[in-house]
Amino acid sequence: MPAADGKNHNNILTKSEGSDNRFILLKSSKKCGSIVKRMKKYMEEAIRQAALAAQSGEVPVGCVIEKDGEIIARAHNLTETMNDPTAHAEILAIRQAAKHQGWQRLTGCNMYVTLEPCAMCAGAIVWARIEKVYIGAMDPKAGACGSVMNIAQNEKLNHRAEIESGIMEEECSEMLRRFFAQRRKKNLGKTEDNK
Ligand SMILES: [Zn+2]
Repeated sequence: MPAADGKNHNNILTKSEGSDNRFILLKSSKKCGSIVKRMKKYMEEAIRQAALAAQSGEVPVGCVIEKDGEIIARAHNLTETMNDPTAHAEILAIRQAAKHQGWQRLTGCNMYVTLEPCAMCAGAIVWARIEKVYIGAMDPKAGACGSVMNIAQNEKLNHRAEIESGIMEEECSEMLRRFFAQRRKKNLGKTEDNK
């Protein structure tokens, strides 16, 4: 039954397969309920990873890779710690997952990531043949899964990953907002000290 705002909250929106990014409405069912529960479970794990990144002063982005209901990789951003611009959560998770699989292809694997992957990570997603990418917050500044560009679903490449965004979006973007606000405050403090 539609709610007071006219929206039917028992339905969930998901992107249809293919590259046109059209949304299709899935009818409310037990199956949908369990899909939403599962997406939340893995995204919560990715958020826990992002929190670990924040604790060590890294931009809070976390990622897990799941296959057949098992988490086979979990990682968070480590670019500062490792002095490595490629040490994004997704790259580290893909490396772990491939090691776990004993194969460079991650066919049948799904990725859950708190922030929309950048061009480098979206490229790695294509190379790894990740099946589906679940995204928390979109990144209008550097996202390569539909925001700035869409590498993960580029028609000319030989693999396209399914994309579903907006999973626990509020929690994911709030972590980033808080992190950058604290960092700005710290940097302001430093400038004040130098006066
Ligand atoms: Zn990246």
